[in-house]
Amino acid sequence: MQYRKLGNTDLSVSRLSYGASPLGSVFRNISEEEGIRTVHTAVDMGVNLIDVSPYYGQTVAETVLGKALKSIPRDKYILSTKAGRYGADFQDFDFSAKRIRSSLEESLGRLGVDGVDILFLHDIEFANLKQIFDESLPCLQALKDEGKVKHIGVTGYPIKIFDKTIENFDIDCILTYCRYALYDTSLEPLLPKLQDKGVGVINASPTGMGLLTQRGAPPWHPGKPELLDAAKKAVELCNKANVDITELALQFAIDHDTIASTLVGTANPVNIQKNIEWAEKPLNVELAQEVRALFNNIDVTWPSGHPEN
Ligand code: NAD
Repeated sequence: MQYRKLGNTDLSVSRLSYGASPLGSVFRNISEEEGIRTVHTAVDMGVNLIDVSPYYGQTVAETVLGKALKSIPRDKYILSTKAGRYGADFQDFDFSAKRIRSSLEESLGRLGVDGVDILFLHDIEFANLKQIFDESLPCLQALKDEGKVKHIGVTGYPIKIFDKTIENFDIDCILTYCRYALYDTSLEPLLPKLQDKGVGVINASPTGMGLLTQRGAPPWHPGKPELLDAAKKAVELCNKANVDITELALQFAIDHDTIASTLVGTANPVNIQKNIEWAEKPLNVELAQEVRALFNNIDVTWPSGHPEN
C-alpha cells in the first residue's frame, strides 16, 4: 500500500482507504460479522484511513465500526467522522455548535474511541453557508484548539462549496464524492488551488455510489436515467474486455497525484481484498478512455442541497 501526505497535516494516509457507510446497510442488508471482518481485512492489508458518519444507517455504521475497532490498536488507523447530517430524509440537518458538540460525543461513544483524527461538517450544501462560516466551522476550530479533534474539514457534492469554504475559513481537508471518477472528473480544476492552500483532498465513491459495479446503482441513486444507462453500457464494455468495471474505476480514481486518498465502501471482506489488490496494479489506460467516452455529452451530475450553494 502506498501512503500520501494529507495536505499540510501530519497525516500520512493510504492511497486507498475505507468508507464505512455500507456498515449501515445503505446499499444492501449486510451481515455485521462480515462487515467487521471487512474492516479487519482492510487494516491488515495496510488501509489506515477509515471514514464514517452518524448519518450512515442512522448511527448503525458507527456502532458496527465501533465493534470492529475494539480489537485494533488505536495507532493503526486514522479515523474521520462527521456532524451536521443525521436522518434518512433531506430535512434532518443541524449545523449548530451545540449539536456539533453533542454529536461528536455521541459518535465517540459509539466508536469506542477518545477522539477522532478528522471531524467533517457533513454535506454543507444543505446548510445556510453563513451559519457554516459564522458558527459551525468556528465550533470545529474550537474543538481542535481544545484537542478533541485533530483536523477539520467539510464534505459535499457541489464543487463550488469547497471553493467558498477555503476562501472563508482555514480548514485542513475536504471530502468530495463522485466528482473524480471514470464518469465525472469535474473536481480537477479546483485541485491546484486546494494544493496551493495546503488543503488535503479525500476523494470518495470511485464507483459513483455503485454505478460502476456489476450490481449497479442502488434504487436511491440520484443520477439521471441517461447516466444510469451509460453506466450499464460501461459495465457491458468492461465485461467484453474481461475486466471488472470496479477494478478499472478504482485504478482510475486513485491515479491522481494531488488526491491524497480515495475512499471505497464495501461490507464484503472478499471485495475489500480485491480492491486493495487492484489498487496495486496499473490502470488500463486505453479501456479507461473508452469507458470515459461513454459519458461524453451527457449530464453526469444531479442537484444536491440549496441551489444557491
Ligand atoms: P463507492 O463508490 O465506494 O461504492 C460503494 C459500492 O460499491 C457498494 O455497493 C459496494 O458494495 C460496491 N463495491 C465496492 N467494492 C466492490 C467490489 N470489489 N466489487 C463489487 N462491488 C464493490 O461509494 P460509497 O460507499 O458511497 O463511497 C465510499 C465512502 O466514501 C463511503 O462509505 C463514505 O465513507 C464516503 N462518502 C462520503 C460522502 C460524504 O461525506 N458526503 C459521500 C459519499 C461517500
